[in-house]
Amino acid sequence: SRKAAQQQRGTVNPTTPEQPADIVARLRATFRTGRTKPVEWRTDQLRRLREMLTEDGDDLAAALHADLGKSTTEARRTEIDFTVREIDHTLDHLADWLRPEPAPVPAHLGSDATAWTQYDPLGVVLVIAPWNYPVQLLLAPLVGALAAGNAVVVKPSELAPATSAALARLLPAYLDTDAFAVVEGGVPETTALLAERFDHIFYTGNGAVGRIVLRAAAEHLTPVTLELGGKSPAFVDGDADVQLVADRLARGKFLNAGQTCVAPDYVLTDPATAAALEPALARSVETLFGADPKASGEYGRIINERHFDRLSGLLDSGRVVVGGDTDRAVKYIAPTVLADVEPSSPVMGEEIFGPILPIVTVPGLDDAIDFINDRDKPLALYVFTESEGTRDRIAAETSSGGLGHGLPLAHLTVSDLPFGGVGESGMGNYHGRYSLETFSHRKAVLRKPLS
Ligand code: NAD
Repeated sequence: SRKAAQQQRGTVNPTTPEQPADIVARLRATFRTGRTKPVEWRTDQLRRLREMLTEDGDDLAAALHADLGKSTTEARRTEIDFTVREIDHTLDHLADWLRPEPAPVPAHLGSDATAWTQYDPLGVVLVIAPWNYPVQLLLAPLVGALAAGNAVVVKPSELAPATSAALARLLPAYLDTDAFAVVEGGVPETTALLAERFDHIFYTGNGAVGRIVLRAAAEHLTPVTLELGGKSPAFVDGDADVQLVADRLARGKFLNAGQTCVAPDYVLTDPATAAALEPALARSVETLFGADPKASGEYGRIINERHFDRLSGLLDSGRVVVGGDTDRAVKYIAPTVLADVEPSSPVMGEEIFGPILPIVTVPGLDDAIDFINDRDKPLALYVFTESEGTRDRIAAETSSGGLGHGLPLAHLTVSDLPFGGVGESGMGNYHGRYSLETFSHRKAVLRKPLS
């Protein structure tokens, strides 16, 4: 089979790794032949990727468990099945999305002139992924890049080494390796890649590295998508059903042990609602993970010691209401809720990116809006209220990558919504047809007949 032959090729010919310049040149040569442009090539690649996810999903789930302690259920739901759905949505609609879009022509060009836009692939694109959803965040951009007809280099995160190795082994066995390559590695390897000229760079990760990527891209005038993070607030109004809100907050926050870019970072509410949320969140955590989350197969682990130490240092930023215990040997930090948290405390000074939920109090809605607008524009903002007036005011008076009413994280599972940040939380967006926009050039065409 194709897979066996390629895997054998890998073992028979263990030469030194191909250099970035050679990889890009090889992929560019393939792109120039026009091979990646027909919609049949694109859909074939997407079907093969889908095949990999179904045939080798167990291998990927095992790698995700090794790297992050993700349960099989969580690995399937948030990474593997998520990507399959993105593929299916794209396969269902690609032909339709690619149809040229006519534009009205002004009278001075005559009635025989026509105009339209069409999507052209960009060429050779680079996708750089982080460690927290190391399958989804590498493959969902890849789906868009292939659907748009590009040759693609992907760079998984070295901080999720089992998943990186699994993807580097599996992907080339399914995809067209004349137009696709995996480069594994950390800073030196990525720095070497970034020296090459790409036609688009799609980066997911933190803003400090986002700036490095943008600077490297500037040398080649390469367009860049930056999917970054930051502190995503959850505003809870006094009129909301506190237990329902607590359940949804806890589910969104403690998924993947809080290591989710769109996790509710902190709760913003009035003092009375804060007091009601404390016992409610304790009940939610117990419902989700039992009395001892450490023993629950559904609760994940922190990616590495560095992040474990960073997060442990944030635990005394407030009064521990839920959790608080840690075990460095197995990188466990309990689902934790902190109350009486000062805006100036360390836990409010950086994106938490772990299982610690601080509750910060403000007197009312005006102060909450000011609190949000005084800080970087978040990747996501969540609002829990029964009041349409409050929903409207927050929608109109704040800026965030996405806005979720009543349910954290869920907006990113809607394939027809663009997913991305604004300001410090990033630039550009993707998912579904927005991925096609991101990985294509929308070419303007005018035609005036010669006779
Ligand atoms: P990370 O450490 O895995 O880094 C991301 C990628 O950048 C990796 O592939 C890494 O090899 C590469 N990299 C690191 N240093 C580099 C350098 N000096 N030069 C070039 N490349 C370099 O992941 P991370 O940044 O810790 O990820 C967490 C951050 O990502 C959080 O801020 C989170 O909110 C954000 N995030 C955003 C999204 C989103 O979709 N917007 C999704 C997930 C995570």
